[in-house]
Amino acid sequence: MATTGKSAAVSHVGKIRANNQDSGYAGQFLFVVADGMGGHAGGDVASAIAVRRITETDRQYTSPNDAEFALRAALLAANSLLAETVFEHGELTGMGTTVSGMLRVDDHVAIAHIGDSRIYLHRNGILKQVTADHTFVQRLVDSGRITAEEAAVHPRRSVLMRVLGDVDASPEIDTTVMKTLPGDRWLICSDGLSSYVAEDKIQAVLTSISDSQEAAERLVKESLDQGAPDNVTVVLVDIDDTGDSSHVPPLTVGSAAVPLVFEADSARRPLRLPSLLLHPLKATQTDDSHFEPESDEYLDALIQEDRRRARKRRVSWLAFILISIAAIAAACVLGYQFTQRHYFVGAVDGRVAIFQGVQQDIGPIKLSHVYKTTTLDLDDLSPYYQQQVETTLNANSLAEAQGIVDRLSDARQR
Ligand code: CA
Repeated sequence: MATTGKSAAVSHVGKIRANNQDSGYAGQFLFVVADGMGGHAGGDVASAIAVRRITETDRQYTSPNDAEFALRAALLAANSLLAETVFEHGELTGMGTTVSGMLRVDDHVAIAHIGDSRIYLHRNGILKQVTADHTFVQRLVDSGRITAEEAAVHPRRSVLMRVLGDVDASPEIDTTVMKTLPGDRWLICSDGLSSYVAEDKIQAVLTSISDSQEAAERLVKESLDQGAPDNVTVVLVDIDDTGDSSHVPPLTVGSAAVPLVFEADSARRPLRLPSLLLHPLKATQTDDSHFEPESDEYLDALIQEDRRRARKRRVSWLAFILISIAAIAAACVLGYQFTQRHYFVGAVDGRVAIFQGVQQDIGPIKLSHVYKTTTLDLDDLSPYYQQQVETTLNANSLAEAQGIVDRLSDARQR
Protein backbone atom coordinates (compact mmCIF):
# COMPACT_ATOMS: atom_id res chain seq x y z
CA MET A 1 0.00 0.00 0.00
CA ALA A 2 1.37 3.42 -0.94
CA THR A 3 1.30 5.83 1.94
CA THR A 4 0.93 9.55 1.60
CA GLY A 5 4.20 10.14 3.46
CA LYS A 6 2.41 12.41 5.86
CA SER A 7 1.42 12.36 9.48
CA ALA A 8 -1.67 13.07 11.53
CA ALA A 9 -2.57 13.81 15.15
CA VAL A 10 -6.04 13.41 16.64
CA SER A 11 -7.11 13.66 20.28
CA HIS A 12 -10.55 13.20 21.81
CA VAL A 13 -11.74 13.63 25.40
CA GLY A 14 -13.77 10.40 25.10
CA LYS A 15 -17.28 9.78 26.32
CA ILE A 16 -16.83 9.68 30.11
CA ARG A 17 -14.03 12.02 31.18
CA ALA A 18 -14.68 15.69 31.87
CA ASN A 19 -11.33 16.90 30.53
CA ASN A 20 -8.64 15.74 28.13
CA GLN A 21 -5.44 14.85 30.01
CA ASP A 22 -3.74 13.57 26.85
CA SER A 23 -1.48 15.67 24.66
CA GLY A 24 -0.18 14.89 21.19
CA TYR A 25 2.18 16.46 18.69
CA ALA A 26 2.99 15.86 15.04
CA GLY A 27 5.75 18.12 13.75
CA GLN A 28 8.52 18.13 11.20
CA PHE A 29 10.72 15.38 12.68
CA LEU A 30 9.15 14.85 16.12
CA PHE A 31 6.01 12.92 17.03
CA VAL A 32 4.80 12.53 20.63
CA VAL A 33 1.91 11.30 22.76
CA ALA A 34 1.68 12.02 26.50
CA ASP A 35 -1.07 10.77 28.82
CA GLY A 36 -1.30 12.76 32.02
CA MET A 37 -2.59 11.65 35.41
CA GLY A 38 -3.20 13.21 38.80
CA GLY A 39 -6.21 14.29 40.73
CA HIS A 40 -7.05 18.01 40.89
CA ALA A 41 -6.35 19.47 37.43
CA GLY A 42 -2.99 17.70 37.40
CA GLY A 43 -3.03 15.31 34.48
CA ASP A 44 -3.75 17.81 31.74
CA VAL A 45 -1.09 20.15 33.14
CA ALA A 46 1.50 17.35 33.31
CA SER A 47 1.08 16.11 29.73
CA ALA A 48 0.93 19.66 28.37
CA ILE A 49 4.12 20.72 30.17
CA ALA A 50 5.94 17.59 29.01
CA VAL A 51 4.86 17.83 25.36
CA ARG A 52 5.64 21.55 25.16
CA ARG A 53 9.13 20.98 26.56
CA ILE A 54 9.81 18.00 24.29
CA THR A 55 8.70 19.84 21.12
CA GLU A 56 11.85 21.93 21.51
CA THR A 57 13.70 18.93 20.05
CA ASP A 58 11.77 19.07 16.76
CA ARG A 59 14.68 19.71 14.34
CA GLN A 60 17.05 17.93 11.99
CA TYR A 61 19.71 15.77 13.70
CA THR A 62 22.93 14.61 12.10
CA SER A 63 22.61 11.06 13.40
CA PRO A 64 19.96 8.85 14.96
CA ASN A 65 22.10 8.56 18.07
CA ASP A 66 22.19 12.35 18.46
CA ALA A 67 18.41 12.36 18.17
CA GLU A 68 18.10 9.58 20.75
CA PHE A 69 20.32 11.53 23.16
CA ALA A 70 18.36 14.75 22.59
CA LEU A 71 15.04 13.01 23.12
CA ARG A 72 16.13 11.37 26.38
CA ALA A 73 17.49 14.72 27.60
CA ALA A 74 14.18 16.39 26.73
CA LEU A 75 12.19 13.83 28.72
CA LEU A 76 14.48 14.32 31.72
CA ALA A 77 14.16 18.10 31.37
CA ALA A 78 10.37 17.71 31.24
CA ASN A 79 10.57 15.63 34.43
CA SER A 80 12.46 18.44 36.20
CA LEU A 81 9.99 20.98 34.91
CA LEU A 82 7.12 18.93 36.38
CA ALA A 83 8.87 18.78 39.77
CA GLU A 84 9.45 22.56 39.66
CA THR A 85 5.80 23.13 38.78
CA VAL A 86 4.69 21.02 41.75
CA PHE A 87 7.13 23.01 43.91
CA GLU A 88 5.32 26.20 42.95
CA HIS A 89 1.82 24.70 42.86
CA GLY A 90 1.46 22.30 45.76
CA GLU A 91 -2.06 21.36 44.71
CA LEU A 92 -0.54 19.58 41.70
CA THR A 93 1.47 17.15 43.87
CA GLY A 94 1.34 13.66 42.47
CA MET A 95 0.72 14.67 38.88
CA GLY A 96 2.58 12.70 36.25
CA THR A 97 2.56 11.80 32.61
CA THR A 98 3.52 9.05 30.23
CA VAL A 99 5.56 10.02 27.18
CA SER A 100 6.10 8.06 23.99
CA GLY A 101 8.11 10.09 21.48
CA MET A 102 9.82 9.52 18.18
CA LEU A 103 12.37 11.63 16.26
CA ARG A 104 12.87 10.80 12.60
CA VAL A 105 16.38 11.01 11.15
CA ASP A 106 16.25 9.98 7.46
CA ASP A 107 15.68 6.20 7.39
CA HIS A 108 15.90 5.82 11.17
CA VAL A 109 13.75 6.76 14.12
CA ALA A 110 14.95 7.46 17.66
CA ILE A 111 12.40 6.47 20.29
CA ALA A 112 12.05 7.50 23.95
CA HIS A 113 9.36 6.01 26.15
CA ILE A 114 8.06 5.94 29.71
CA GLY A 115 4.64 4.74 30.91
CA ASP A 116 1.89 2.87 29.11
CA SER A 117 1.29 4.90 25.99
CA ARG A 118 2.46 2.82 23.06
CA ILE A 119 4.40 2.99 19.82
CA TYR A 120 3.47 0.43 17.17
CA LEU A 121 5.08 -0.25 13.81
CA HIS A 122 2.74 -1.28 11.01
CA ARG A 123 4.82 -2.87 8.23
CA ASN A 124 3.54 -5.03 5.36
CA GLY A 125 0.12 -5.30 6.95
CA ILE A 126 1.47 -6.52 10.32
CA LEU A 127 1.15 -4.47 13.51
CA LYS A 128 3.87 -4.82 16.17
CA GLN A 129 4.18 -3.03 19.51
CA VAL A 130 7.73 -1.68 19.82
CA THR A 131 7.51 -0.16 23.31
CA ALA A 132 7.02 -2.11 26.55
CA ASP A 133 4.33 -0.96 29.00
CA HIS A 134 5.76 0.23 32.30
CA THR A 135 2.80 -1.12 34.21
CA PHE A 136 2.54 -2.98 37.48
CA VAL A 137 0.99 -6.01 35.78
CA GLN A 138 3.59 -6.12 32.98
CA ARG A 139 6.28 -6.25 35.67
CA LEU A 140 4.46 -9.10 37.42
CA VAL A 141 4.19 -10.96 34.09
CA ASP A 142 7.88 -10.35 33.29
CA SER A 143 8.94 -11.72 36.68
CA GLY A 144 6.70 -14.78 36.28
CA ARG A 145 4.48 -13.89 39.25
CA ILE A 146 1.24 -13.85 37.25
CA THR A 147 0.21 -15.03 33.80
CA ALA A 148 -0.70 -12.79 30.85
CA GLU A 149 -4.32 -13.97 31.30
CA GLU A 150 -4.33 -12.89 34.95
CA ALA A 151 -2.80 -9.55 33.89
CA ALA A 152 -5.62 -8.82 31.43
CA VAL A 153 -8.23 -8.82 34.25
CA HIS A 154 -5.96 -7.66 37.07
CA PRO A 155 -7.54 -5.00 39.34
CA ARG A 156 -4.32 -2.95 39.18
CA ARG A 157 -3.78 -3.30 35.45
CA SER A 158 -3.81 0.47 34.90
CA VAL A 159 -1.29 1.18 37.64
CA LEU A 160 1.94 2.59 36.22
CA MET A 161 5.40 1.80 37.54
CA ARG A 162 7.18 4.66 35.80
CA VAL A 163 6.08 8.09 34.65
CA LEU A 164 7.49 11.59 34.42
CA GLY A 165 6.41 13.64 37.42
CA ASP A 166 7.49 14.81 40.84
CA VAL A 167 8.19 11.33 42.21
CA ASP A 168 11.60 10.42 40.86
CA ALA A 169 14.41 12.89 40.05
CA SER A 170 15.96 10.52 37.50
CA PRO A 171 13.26 8.28 36.05
CA GLU A 172 14.29 5.30 33.96
CA ILE A 173 13.50 6.06 30.31
CA ASP A 174 13.59 3.44 27.54
CA THR A 175 15.28 4.64 24.37
CA THR A 176 16.15 2.90 21.13
CA VAL A 177 17.00 3.54 17.50
CA MET A 178 15.21 1.61 14.73
CA LYS A 179 15.45 1.54 10.98
CA THR A 180 12.39 2.59 9.03
CA LEU A 181 11.36 1.74 5.45
CA PRO A 182 9.12 3.38 2.88
CA GLY A 183 5.56 2.23 3.52
CA ASP A 184 6.06 1.95 7.30
CA ARG A 185 3.33 3.44 9.46
CA TRP A 186 4.24 4.39 13.01
CA LEU A 187 1.35 4.63 15.42
CA ILE A 188 1.78 6.44 18.74
CA CYS A 189 -1.27 6.25 21.00
CA SER A 190 -2.52 6.62 24.55
CA ASP A 191 -4.09 3.66 26.37
CA GLY A 192 -7.47 5.20 25.52
CA LEU A 193 -6.95 3.45 22.18
CA SER A 194 -4.86 0.38 23.03
CA SER A 195 -6.91 -0.66 26.09
CA TYR A 196 -10.24 -0.58 24.27
CA VAL A 197 -9.61 -1.40 20.61
CA ALA A 198 -8.20 -4.86 19.82
CA GLU A 199 -4.86 -4.96 18.02
CA ASP A 200 -6.27 -6.90 15.06
CA LYS A 201 -8.86 -4.13 14.63
CA ILE A 202 -6.11 -1.47 14.72
CA GLN A 203 -4.13 -3.50 12.21
CA ALA A 204 -7.15 -3.80 9.90
CA VAL A 205 -7.74 -0.03 9.96
CA LEU A 206 -4.07 0.72 9.22
CA THR A 207 -4.05 -1.84 6.40
CA SER A 208 -7.23 -0.62 4.74
CA ILE A 209 -7.07 3.20 5.03
CA SER A 210 -4.07 4.80 3.30
CA ASP A 211 -4.72 8.45 4.17
CA SER A 212 -2.97 9.35 7.45
CA GLN A 213 -5.60 11.75 8.73
CA GLU A 214 -8.47 9.49 7.76
CA ALA A 215 -6.82 6.43 9.39
CA ALA A 216 -6.09 8.36 12.61
CA GLU A 217 -9.67 9.61 12.79
CA ARG A 218 -11.00 6.10 12.19
CA LEU A 219 -8.89 4.73 15.07
CA VAL A 220 -10.30 7.37 17.42
CA LYS A 221 -13.79 6.52 16.19
CA GLU A 222 -13.17 2.82 16.93
CA SER A 223 -12.44 3.76 20.56
CA LEU A 224 -15.55 5.96 20.71
CA ASP A 225 -17.58 3.04 19.36
CA GLN A 226 -16.26 1.00 22.32
CA GLY A 227 -17.61 3.65 24.71
CA ALA A 228 -14.28 5.54 25.04
CA PRO A 229 -14.14 5.64 28.85
CA ASP A 230 -10.73 7.32 28.63
CA ASN A 231 -9.18 10.16 26.63
CA VAL A 232 -7.88 8.84 23.34
CA THR A 233 -4.97 10.24 21.33
CA VAL A 234 -3.55 8.94 18.06
CA VAL A 235 -0.46 10.21 16.22
CA LEU A 236 0.18 8.46 12.93
CA VAL A 237 3.43 8.83 10.99
CA ASP A 238 3.62 7.57 7.40
CA ILE A 239 7.02 7.01 5.83
CA ASP A 240 7.40 7.25 2.07
CA ASP A 241 10.51 7.11 -0.13
CA THR A 242 10.81 10.87 -0.38
CA GLY A 243 11.87 10.79 3.26
CA ASP A 244 9.21 13.26 4.25
CA SER A 245 6.69 12.48 6.96
CA SER A 246 6.35 15.92 8.41
CA HIS A 247 3.22 17.70 9.47
CA VAL A 248 3.39 21.29 8.21
CA PRO A 249 2.73 23.37 10.14
CA PRO A 250 3.35 21.35 13.33
CA LEU A 251 0.12 20.27 15.01
CA THR A 252 -0.48 20.09 18.76
CA VAL A 253 -3.60 18.33 20.06
CA GLY A 254 -5.16 17.61 23.47
CA SER A 255 -4.37 19.62 26.61
CA ALA A 256 -1.05 20.96 25.23
CA ALA A 257 -3.10 22.73 22.55
CA VAL A 258 -4.99 24.89 25.07
CA PRO A 259 -3.67 27.44 27.62
CA LEU A 260 -2.71 26.06 31.03
CA VAL A 261 -5.40 27.04 33.52
CA PHE A 262 -3.74 26.47 36.88
CA GLU A 263 -1.60 29.63 36.89
CA ALA A 264 -4.31 32.21 37.56
CA ASP A 265 -4.78 31.87 41.32
CA SER A 266 -1.39 30.42 42.24
CA ALA A 267 -0.44 33.53 44.25
CA ARG A 268 -2.98 32.65 46.94
CA ARG A 269 -1.60 29.17 47.45
CA PRO A 270 1.07 28.48 50.08
CA LEU A 271 4.47 27.44 48.81
CA ARG A 272 5.60 23.96 49.68
CA LEU A 273 8.92 22.19 49.37
CA PRO A 274 8.77 19.72 46.51
CA SER A 275 8.04 16.26 47.80
CA LEU A 276 10.88 15.12 45.57
CA LEU A 277 13.45 16.93 47.70
CA LEU A 278 11.99 15.84 51.03
CA HIS A 279 11.49 12.20 50.16
CA PRO A 280 13.30 11.24 46.97
CA LEU A 281 11.46 7.92 46.66
CA LYS A 282 8.35 8.43 48.73
CA ALA A 283 6.53 11.46 47.42
CA THR A 284 3.03 12.18 48.61
CA GLN A 285 0.56 10.59 46.25
CA THR A 286 -2.79 12.21 45.67
CA ASP A 287 -4.13 9.28 43.72
CA ASP A 288 -3.18 5.69 43.14
CA SER A 289 -2.71 5.79 39.38
CA HIS A 290 1.03 5.38 39.72
CA PHE A 291 3.52 4.49 42.43
CA GLU A 292 7.00 3.17 43.08
CA PRO A 293 6.88 -0.02 45.15
CA GLU A 294 9.66 -0.05 47.73
CA SER A 295 10.47 -3.75 47.67
CA ASP A 296 9.67 -7.15 46.23
CA GLU A 297 8.01 -8.04 49.55
CA TYR A 298 5.63 -5.14 49.04
CA LEU A 299 4.85 -6.36 45.52
CA ASP A 300 4.22 -9.88 46.83
CA ALA A 301 1.96 -8.53 49.57
CA LEU A 302 -0.05 -6.65 46.95
CA ILE A 303 -0.39 -9.76 44.80
CA GLN A 304 -1.54 -11.83 47.81
CA GLU A 305 -4.03 -9.11 48.74
CA ASP A 306 -5.45 -9.08 45.20
CA ARG A 307 -5.76 -12.89 45.17
CA ARG A 308 -7.49 -12.87 48.58
CA ARG A 309 -9.91 -10.21 47.34
CA ALA A 310 -10.61 -12.19 44.16
CA ARG A 311 -11.24 -15.35 46.23
CA LYS A 312 -13.55 -13.46 48.59
CA ARG A 313 -15.47 -12.04 45.62
CA ARG A 314 -15.85 -15.54 44.15
CA VAL A 315 -17.10 -16.99 47.47
CA SER A 316 -19.65 -14.17 47.99
CA TRP A 317 -20.94 -14.57 44.47
CA LEU A 318 -21.33 -18.32 44.88
CA ALA A 319 -23.25 -17.84 48.17
CA PHE A 320 -25.46 -15.20 46.54
CA ILE A 321 -26.25 -17.49 43.59
CA LEU A 322 -27.03 -20.50 45.85
CA ILE A 323 -29.31 -18.44 48.10
CA SER A 324 -31.09 -17.01 45.04
CA ILE A 325 -31.64 -20.48 43.58
CA ALA A 326 -33.01 -21.75 46.92
CA ALA A 327 -35.35 -18.74 47.22
CA ILE A 328 -36.67 -19.19 43.69
CA ALA A 329 -37.18 -22.93 44.24
CA ALA A 330 -39.06 -22.28 47.52
CA ALA A 331 -41.28 -19.68 45.83
CA CYS A 332 -42.05 -22.13 43.03
CA VAL A 333 -43.01 -24.94 45.45
CA LEU A 334 -45.21 -22.65 47.58
CA GLY A 335 -46.81 -21.12 44.49
CA TYR A 336 -47.54 -24.53 42.98
CA GLN A 337 -49.05 -25.78 46.27
CA PHE A 338 -51.26 -22.69 46.35
CA THR A 339 -52.59 -23.33 42.83
CA GLN A 340 -53.34 -26.98 43.63
CA ARG A 341 -55.86 -26.02 46.34
CA HIS A 342 -58.13 -24.71 43.56
CA TYR A 343 -60.51 -26.60 41.23
CA PHE A 344 -62.51 -25.75 38.15
CA VAL A 345 -64.96 -27.45 35.86
CA GLY A 346 -64.14 -27.70 32.16
CA ALA A 347 -64.37 -29.98 29.13
CA VAL A 348 -62.20 -32.96 28.12
CA ASP A 349 -62.91 -34.94 24.91
CA GLY A 350 -66.54 -33.73 24.82
CA ARG A 351 -67.18 -34.56 28.49
CA VAL A 352 -67.50 -32.44 31.59
CA ALA A 353 -64.43 -32.80 33.83
CA ILE A 354 -63.12 -31.51 37.17
CA PHE A 355 -59.64 -29.97 37.04
CA GLN A 356 -57.29 -29.45 39.96
CA GLY A 357 -55.21 -26.24 39.83
CA VAL A 358 -55.74 -22.95 38.03
CA GLN A 359 -56.51 -22.23 34.40
CA GLN A 360 -53.38 -20.09 33.79
CA ASP A 361 -50.10 -21.65 32.60
CA ILE A 362 -46.59 -20.29 33.09
CA GLY A 363 -45.05 -20.74 29.65
CA PRO A 364 -44.74 -24.47 29.04
CA ILE A 365 -45.51 -25.25 32.71
CA LYS A 366 -49.15 -26.35 33.23
CA LEU A 367 -50.67 -25.38 36.58
CA SER A 368 -53.66 -27.72 36.30
CA HIS A 369 -54.47 -31.35 35.53
CA VAL A 370 -57.63 -33.39 35.03
CA TYR A 371 -58.78 -34.59 38.46
CA LYS A 372 -61.81 -36.53 37.27
CA THR A 373 -63.68 -36.94 33.99
CA THR A 374 -67.47 -37.34 34.47
CA THR A 375 -69.92 -39.34 32.36
CA LEU A 376 -71.76 -36.12 31.49
CA ASP A 377 -71.62 -35.41 27.74
CA LEU A 378 -71.24 -31.79 26.64
CA ASP A 379 -73.78 -32.45 23.85
CA ASP A 380 -76.46 -33.17 26.48
CA LEU A 381 -76.18 -29.61 27.81
CA SER A 382 -77.90 -26.51 26.48
CA PRO A 383 -75.72 -24.29 24.25
CA TYR A 384 -75.49 -21.81 27.14
CA TYR A 385 -74.08 -24.39 29.59
CA GLN A 386 -71.84 -25.88 26.89
CA GLN A 387 -70.23 -22.48 26.45
CA GLN A 388 -69.95 -22.01 30.24
CA VAL A 389 -68.13 -25.34 30.60
CA GLU A 390 -65.85 -24.68 27.63
CA THR A 391 -64.74 -21.35 29.12
CA THR A 392 -64.48 -23.16 32.54
CA LEU A 393 -66.28 -22.59 35.84
CA ASN A 394 -64.30 -21.77 38.98
CA ALA A 395 -64.66 -23.65 42.26
CA ASN A 396 -63.02 -22.93 45.59
CA SER A 397 -62.94 -26.60 46.60
CA LEU A 398 -63.41 -30.08 45.25
CA ALA A 399 -66.90 -30.22 46.90
CA GLU A 400 -67.90 -26.99 45.16
CA ALA A 401 -66.68 -28.39 41.80
CA GLN A 402 -68.67 -31.56 42.41
CA GLY A 403 -71.73 -29.37 43.20
CA ILE A 404 -71.37 -27.58 39.85
CA VAL A 405 -71.22 -30.96 38.02
CA ASP A 406 -74.35 -32.10 39.90
CA ARG A 407 -76.28 -28.96 38.92
CA LEU A 408 -75.16 -29.33 35.27
CA SER A 409 -76.32 -32.95 35.39
CA ASP A 410 -79.74 -31.85 36.68
CA ALA A 411 -80.04 -29.24 33.94
CA ARG A 412 -79.27 -31.83 31.27
CA GLN A 413 -81.60 -31.63 28.23
CA ARG A 414 -83.79 -34.73 28.16
CA1 CA B 1 -5.23 7.22 29.63
